[in-house]
Amino acid sequence: MNLRIPGPTPCPPEVRAAGASPMIDHRGEDFVSLHRRIVSRLQAVFRTRNEVLLLTSSGTGALEAAVVNTLSPGDRVLAVTVGPFGDRFAEIAEAHGAALTRLPFEPGLPADPASVDRALAADPSIRAVLLTHNETATGVTNDVRSISRIVRARGPLLLVDSVSGLAALPLETDGWGLDVVATASQKAWMTPPGVAMVSVGPRAWEAHARARMPRFYFDFGRAREFASKGQTPWTPAISVLFSLSTALDRIEREGLDAVLDRHRRIGARTRDGVRSLGLRLLAEGPHASDSVTAVRAPDGIEVSDLRRRLRAEQGVVLAGGQGSLKGKVFRIAHLGWVEEREIDEVLQALRAVLASLGPRKG
Ligand SMILES: *Cc1c(COP(=O)(O)O)cnc(C)c1O
Repeated sequence: MNLRIPGPTPCPPEVRAAGASPMIDHRGEDFVSLHRRIVSRLQAVFRTRNEVLLLTSSGTGALEAAVVNTLSPGDRVLAVTVGPFGDRFAEIAEAHGAALTRLPFEPGLPADPASVDRALAADPSIRAVLLTHNETATGVTNDVRSISRIVRARGPLLLVDSVSGLAALPLETDGWGLDVVATASQKAWMTPPGVAMVSVGPRAWEAHARARMPRFYFDFGRAREFASKGQTPWTPAISVLFSLSTALDRIEREGLDAVLDRHRRIGARTRDGVRSLGLRLLAEGPHASDSVTAVRAPDGIEVSDLRRRLRAEQGVVLAGGQGSLKGKVFRIAHLGWVEEREIDEVLQALRAVLASLGPRKG
C-alpha cells in the first residue's frame, strides 16, 4: 500500500524494527542515554536550546499540555484558525475555561498577519495566541515568522501547533521566538503514533509558574524535573521512543536542510502533477503546504468513491476532507518517508481512476 495520509505516515524498515526491540528499565541507564540522544537531536530539528519534553500521547495531548501549562481559567486567548486543526486548538482552550476570541480564515487561505495585529491591538488583555504552523486539513502553511514578530511586539505568548510541520517544513523555534511548539511522532518523524514532543521556552516557563488551569499527567514542571535526569515522570512509550531515535538517526544522516529541500521539491511536484490532471488545489500560492496537498473534488465525482477505488484498484490510500471540507476535498500527504516515486504513483493512480470514473452523466 502507498499510504499517503497525513499521519500515521509510513515508517522505514529500520524504524519499524527498532520498535520491536526488547523492553528496558525506564529508570535505568539505558533509558537515560536513549532519552538524552532523542532530546538533543530533537532540539536540532526544532532549532532550539529550550527543553524539549517527551509526552506519551498523540499530538492533541501536546496541544492540551501547551494550554493548561501556560494559562488560567478566564484568560483571554486569540485563536488564529485557518481550518479544523486550528478550531481544535481553540476548542481545547475553551474546554479549559479560556475566554476565546476566534480569528478565522477561509479554508485554503493562510492567516493574514495584519489581521492578527489588529485583533491584538483591539484587546490588549490577550494573554496567548494559538497558531497552526501547517493546517493539515487544508494544506496551508502559515507565515509563522511574520505572525510571531507581531505577537512578540504586542506581548502575548505564542503557542504553535507544528504537529504536521516540524521535520518537514522550516521552523525556527528560537530564531522566531516561539514560546511553545508541539509536534507528534506519527507525522513527519516517520515513527508510529504515541509520542508527542513539545518545546517550552523561557516565557512559557514564567507563565507556567502562574498558570492555574488544572494539570497533572501533562504537567510541564514534572516533565522538566524528570527530563533533567534523562527520564519521564510516567512510564514512557518505550517502543515508540526506540523507533523515534532510529528515525532521528535517519534525519541526521540525510541532514535537516536536505530533508526540508526534499519536502519542498516533492510538494511542488505534487501540486504540478495535480494541476496537470486538470484538478484544482484548495490552496494556491506561496502558502501551499509542502507536507500535504488538498485537492478540490472534481465535479460529479464523489470523494468517497474515488478514495475507495484508489485503494482497491491501485493500492493508494489518500485522506478525505475533514469538518466542513468533507466530500469537498481529498488530500495527498507527502511528509516524512517519501520520495518522488511515491507521488508519481499517486498521480498515475489518480489519472487511471479518474478516467474510468469520468464525470457523472446528468
Ligand atoms: C495530526 C495533527 C494534530 C494532532 O492529531 P493527533 O491525532 O492527536 O496526533 C494536531 N494538529 C495538526 C495540524 C495535525 O496535523
